[in-house]
Amino acid sequence: MIEMIIDAHMHYFNVEGFDELARLADHENSRRGWQDICETNHIAFSVAMGNSYDAPCRFGGVTPRLINLGGEPFCVQPYNQPDNVGYCLGVQSEEITPGNAERTAMEFEYYLQRDPHCLGIKFYMGYQNVHLYDPRHEPLFELAKSYDVPVAMHSGETANHHGRLRYSHPLTVDEAACRHPDVRFVICHMGNPWIVDAFEVASKNENVFMDFSGLWEHRLTPEREREIEDFQKYVRMWLTYHGIWDKIMYGSDWPLVNIPDNIRNLGKIVPEEHWGEFYYDNALRVYSRIKIIKTVTGS
Ligand SMILES: [Zn+2]
Repeated sequence: MIEMIIDAHMHYFNVEGFDELARLADHENSRRGWQDICETNHIAFSVAMGNSYDAPCRFGGVTPRLINLGGEPFCVQPYNQPDNVGYCLGVQSEEITPGNAERTAMEFEYYLQRDPHCLGIKFYMGYQNVHLYDPRHEPLFELAKSYDVPVAMHSGETANHHGRLRYSHPLTVDEAACRHPDVRFVICHMGNPWIVDAFEVASKNENVFMDFSGLWEHRLTPEREREIEDFQKYVRMWLTYHGIWDKIMYGSDWPLVNIPDNIRNLGKIVPEEHWGEFYYDNALRVYSRIKIIKTVTGS
């Protein structure tokens, strides 16, 4: 039985395209819509990947992308987003240069320093044509290390034509993770379709984890559920082969997917005896700042 869930990868952003995605998944892309989903599906906390509006510039660097699903513009103090939603600062790698990299880190530090809801840093490799291990990211990796927050990377297929797939390959995480053994890395979407590569990188490196978000889309029809059965068996086979139960996290990529469909179908990949780790415990360890936010610990 699944008692409580942390959604380790969703989006909290009110743009037209996302409104339409939510409709296709039988949901509503709104604050109320998300809170209703959380209540009915035992989602105690969710990690939103910042891809929304640009933060104001304070230090002359490239500013992070934040979250905002309507209402007042994002504010750190007091935090004006729901208490059960934290976020990763989104990186616009193509705009970072050797000249502004340090000042960019200062823009990011502003949030890490002031806001316990700021949980990590999200890189959009494949959407941004830059390798994760590019030297321009070094000051951001240093920040992740000093604030003990993970670095998440988009990995695998992309949803537009600007991106080049070689940047989103999970093997690129091996290079960054080896150079930074003190930083936790998350391969988002388990590198789909380079799943075997992603599993190998996570298995080899103690500091590499994966989220299982965005593996299908919209509301699943019974036909579609049957079509993905072989895919689910394939992933389960490799997962069992490696036995990396401490490395995997539940994620949705909401509003891309229908949430009850997603919870049920990911449960077919992960054996029931590992649901506790998959749906909850591992995310609490990787996005460790969640522990200091009241809603989960109850303290
Ligand atoms: Zn995403």
